[in-house]
Amino acid sequence: MSPGLPLGKLLAVTAGLPNKKPTTQPATQPFSSALPSAPVIDRDFENRLAQKLTNRMKKENMGVQEKVRWQDTSREALPEAFNIEVLQNETMYQKFLRIAEGRQLAENEFRIVEKKLGVSTKELLGFMQKAVQSGNAEWLPIFEQVRSRYFCRRCGSSHYEEWPSLYGDTYTCLDCREIGPLNSLQILFRLHSVDVPGQTQVDTDKCKPDQTIRSYSLEFTFAQEKAAEELWQQVHRQKAQETLLWAACGAGKTEVCFPLIDSFLRQNKKVLFAAPRQDVVHDVQPRLQKNFPEYNIKILSGALPQDMEPSKLTVATTHQVLRFYRAFHLIILDETDAYPYEGSSVLEYGIRQALRPDGQIICLTATPSAEILLRVKSQKCAIVRLPVRHHGFPVPVPEWQKNKPTRDRSLVELKKVLLKLIADGPILVFVPTVALVKEWTGVLKMAFCNLRVEGSWSSDAARREKIVLFRQGDINIFVCTSILERGITIKGVQVAVLFADHTLYDARALVQMAGRTGRSAECPVGRAVFIYAEQTQAMIQANRWIQDQNRLAEEWGCLNG
Ligand SMILES: [Zn+2]
Repeated sequence: MSPGLPLGKLLAVTAGLPNKKPTTQPATQPFSSALPSAPVIDRDFENRLAQKLTNRMKKENMGVQEKVRWQDTSREALPEAFNIEVLQNETMYQKFLRIAEGRQLAENEFRIVEKKLGVSTKELLGFMQKAVQSGNAEWLPIFEQVRSRYFCRRCGSSHYEEWPSLYGDTYTCLDCREIGPLNSLQILFRLHSVDVPGQTQVDTDKCKPDQTIRSYSLEFTFAQEKAAEELWQQVHRQKAQETLLWAACGAGKTEVCFPLIDSFLRQNKKVLFAAPRQDVVHDVQPRLQKNFPEYNIKILSGALPQDMEPSKLTVATTHQVLRFYRAFHLIILDETDAYPYEGSSVLEYGIRQALRPDGQIICLTATPSAEILLRVKSQKCAIVRLPVRHHGFPVPVPEWQKNKPTRDRSLVELKKVLLKLIADGPILVFVPTVALVKEWTGVLKMAFCNLRVEGSWSSDAARREKIVLFRQGDINIFVCTSILERGITIKGVQVAVLFADHTLYDARALVQMAGRTGRSAECPVGRAVFIYAEQTQAMIQANRWIQDQNRLAEEWGCLNG
């Protein structure tokens, strides 16, 4: 048996393969020691159970349409596969390597690769085995045992569901189901990075930061240029493995990374731009494509069919990053503190796993978490600041209005506040819960019967439609939960945070909400009002954060306002 094939048998989920009945329990089952020795199985029983399993898989939307069958891929059984003509086709093999490089492929992805290459399952398995035998790839059981616990190799999670199968207890990982379910009867194929011949290398040390930035078509402000240069120094000179780019809301932090991305691409290195949310990913890809027209920039998100086309520059949601293994030299991780990335050990594991051992990571945020600031403090992470917005005006410091919003008397006061805000532009009204969105949309509709008031939340079916209307200026007051807390720029928008003292709001959420104001160059100023009953530490900290950032911008001498 080849050293890269610890498993002996590969479970294939295809009807096209020979229907070999297993003579031993599957080696892909990582719990085999707990199982009895090979069962004697009668064919009828096996068929009935396989049918049951198939039904169960269908019910669970596991994407398996056919009966589960076994394909023996031990060395003894492989000569047949290796004799097939396609395996002698070196061009096709190189194409396979380019597609699969840096990926960890689960069985439900084999078919996409087959289609892409135009080969059969057997031929693909032959290529895979050839890569394993050349030492570039490995077959892995889905679960790995560490002491008494089992971990999913694709996402690092130990959160799984147990279910009975023909081969004994079987486990389905619950944390990476979103990108296709994986269970312990399956197998994972990993292809490590392979050197593509004929690559030209650029000497990094000869690319000085100013040269790179000047060669760029972007018109940076003084602060952006300073931050881009510092970022360059950290990555290329200091060789920082992790760098935090702490930018003010609306500072143009994404563009500041472009010269760095450019330098990596020119060295023929692979770059990933990742963000936790789909809308950020879909927003960034066209901006990158515009600035890097010579590259075909791939976008991977749950909203699109899976794309296997290899790319030097990939834009992906953090969920999709779980498909990669030591693939990228540089990862730009946007909105590091946003849901669902923050606090998700699985998504964090995915980012670390997708980074090459010598790779570097840049975290972008306007509101860094305490955890990353601690890493900065202990010098495990470098830091670059970008304290000023691209138009040079300071971030508005939130005003405080003590007023517990209720439907009756205090509504008079609230109405006064909102009337003053509406004079300057449309208002985003943030409330902490969906129930409050529904309630306050109704209240404000009655209070402002001559204005158009709408409300929305994450699961609202008409959400996108309403956001478009709000952007167009057709909605005057838009009540929402934190869905619009990030990544949205609406000209002239004013912000009111109702229940700003709510326990759901931490300082970072408050900074993000206030940061929606004054983002566009045409309307660089705006007002944000926190409406509260009792002042909280979060409110104090949010104001302090914004003031500190504005102070730093002033020290840099780049404030206009
Ligand atoms: Zn998993």
